[in-house]
Amino acid sequence: MSEFIKTLCPYCGVGCGLEVSPPAQQGKATHRDSQGNPIWRVRGDKAHPSSQGMVCVKGATIAESLDKNRLHYPMVRDSLDREFRRVSWDEAFDTIVNRLQTVRFTQGPEAICMYGSGQFQTEDYYTAQKLMKGCLGSNNFDANSRLCMSSAVAGYIQSFGSDGPPCCYEDLELTDCAFLIGTNTAECHPIVFNRLEKYHRKNRKVKMIVVDPRHTPTAEAADLHLAIRPGTDIDLLNGIAHLLMRWGHIDTMFIEDCTSNFSAYAEVIRHYPPEVVARQCGISIENLETAARYWGESQRVLSLWSMGVNQSSEGTAKVRTIINLHLMTGQIGKPGSGPFSLTGQPNAMGGREAGGLAHLLPGYRLVKNDQHRAEVEDVWKIKRGQISANPGLTAWDMITGLENGSVGLLWIAATNPAVSMPDLERTKKALLRSPFTIYQDAYYPTETAAYAHVLLPAAQWGEKTGVMTNSERTVTLCQAFRQPPREAKADWEIFAEVGRRLGFVKEFSFANSAEVYAEFTQLTRGRPCDMTGISHEQLKTQGPTQWPHPKDEGDKGDQGAKLLPHPPHLPHSKRLYTDLRFHTPDGRARFGAYYSKGLAEPPDPDYPFVLTNGRLYGHWHTQTRTGRIEKIRSMHPQPFIEIHPRDAAQLGISENQLVEVRSRRGQANFPAKVTKAIAPGTVFVPMHWGALWADNAEANALTHPESCPDSLQPELKACAVQLIPVAHK
Ligand code: SF4
Repeated sequence: MSEFIKTLCPYCGVGCGLEVSPPAQQGKATHRDSQGNPIWRVRGDKAHPSSQGMVCVKGATIAESLDKNRLHYPMVRDSLDREFRRVSWDEAFDTIVNRLQTVRFTQGPEAICMYGSGQFQTEDYYTAQKLMKGCLGSNNFDANSRLCMSSAVAGYIQSFGSDGPPCCYEDLELTDCAFLIGTNTAECHPIVFNRLEKYHRKNRKVKMIVVDPRHTPTAEAADLHLAIRPGTDIDLLNGIAHLLMRWGHIDTMFIEDCTSNFSAYAEVIRHYPPEVVARQCGISIENLETAARYWGESQRVLSLWSMGVNQSSEGTAKVRTIINLHLMTGQIGKPGSGPFSLTGQPNAMGGREAGGLAHLLPGYRLVKNDQHRAEVEDVWKIKRGQISANPGLTAWDMITGLENGSVGLLWIAATNPAVSMPDLERTKKALLRSPFTIYQDAYYPTETAAYAHVLLPAAQWGEKTGVMTNSERTVTLCQAFRQPPREAKADWEIFAEVGRRLGFVKEFSFANSAEVYAEFTQLTRGRPCDMTGISHEQLKTQGPTQWPHPKDEGDKGDQGAKLLPHPPHLPHSKRLYTDLRFHTPDGRARFGAYYSKGLAEPPDPDYPFVLTNGRLYGHWHTQTRTGRIEKIRSMHPQPFIEIHPRDAAQLGISENQLVEVRSRRGQANFPAKVTKAIAPGTVFVPMHWGALWADNAEANALTHPESCPDSLQPELKACAVQLIPVAHK
């Protein structure tokens, strides 16, 4: 038997395959971290189809985070000004169940909220849905994916009738023109970028366009960098469409046969001539025309986007406007082409499949759809009407619910909202008002743990077996290779035990995570994300696979088959929509017709700069893991603010000088990095530093919660600020 155990990198949505070997089998002296813990050896899995053996620094160093600052025991305290005391799991479960019952019967199930994470495995997500939506009758489950990808979800559903990125990573190496917008892929999705960049370097005819207000490492590799003003994405996209239309680079047959609502869209783009668009976006007409020419003359266009598009008060409109370009040029359903959202978190895709947002149910179903709720109730064997028809509270709704007293219990798991939510001062004040907060995490301390009444120690990567789905719909089994430390438990086991103690014994009688996954896949039968042909055993023996992956017809032993009949044939496919039929009632993809609205909080004389933020190559989100890895800490030792030399000169700011940044909601201080990488009028800060890691350098102290009306995703990417140089002492 191989000494290497196959698993998946638990950081980003690229989903790179890893192989892990135990420290004791390395033959030589065992490597240990600074706390004396043996370090497991990690290498890229060459057989994994998504990453082909490649890993970035985060994946390569992940094992160093396994034993540092772990939460080992359940802890409780009566109020936030008291110390935690260690308790048994029995006492912790009793405390939680009593409180859940009290809130449920005094305030109603809608007063119970859970805020989960794209770090969950699918089994964790699924049991949480069953507990919250099925058993407790509260749809108030939302995940940090709300802050990350919910605009992509809403955009896909509105344009195609279903969620699901239609492309695959192989398309990175088959395209003629890669259009990257709102994504610093080189730093945030490094292995996707490696594949694209290598191919681009070898094939000089292939064009790469990067749209980003910053000159990032991604922009550095581009043939054309469009440094548009923040908030002008729709202007640009409609401007490109205007030129494609004017030059006749449109696929009339595809538009007529496969789409609807084109005339409304054509009317909108008529108002985006190049002179207007170039002025609005702050780019030259020549560059705008070059972008349109690259797109129009290419046989295969692939667009990639991420948080720069999604985290916007018009995020869904932006996603749909990207998709519009593909629809008007017939660039979808064929190799090397299509709209491709790059998921931020490792299993945000699995969360979407399992119904892990407030408006979703498992199998890409919607809470508000009567038939969808009935189908789920049948498989869960709960009474009709048990699942509420009201979409639950989103992440930000939970904060406002704490403010107005309608939330009686908040359960947070595997995420750190005391750093990652917008308008942090308001968020923290709301968390302080929470009558009862359960915080379930692998690590301690974190910034959010300070707001908890109960701490539950969770098993993490490598300590539980479960499934994750990456950005290209590849499903991988992440095998446990060590025991959870001390009393830590898998998230799904914690949810299941609470369910049993609430009286839902049969509903949570899973012997292991393979059984959880088997029940979950029943609920994908006949859905666009059909995974009935996938099981833990199949993934273990045959390796990762993409969905849709329906079970072969004629399998008699499948309970789900009796409940949910198979739909017309769903192929097991690398790409979606190869037959050019979509999941809308008429089978046609829908154009979305949107005028640009711009930023929710544009700059003005009082707050004259646009602050944007993002990630750095080495760090992951709020540093819960990467802040404890020496190599990564030395790569990115401190936060900073990027300022253009012209702005720095006007304000008298010199390199490394501390700058106080103020918005209407808060302030933070950052050392200046004076660079032409950022456009004049815009400044950039990394989003990784919470209160544990630096004094007063929280990006989200400045951001606001204005959200997209369709996706309810906050505009974390931009807000208006003023800059004040702090005098040298
Ligand atoms: Fe992990 Fe993402 Fe890096 Fe791959 S690219 S090793 S999934 S962090």
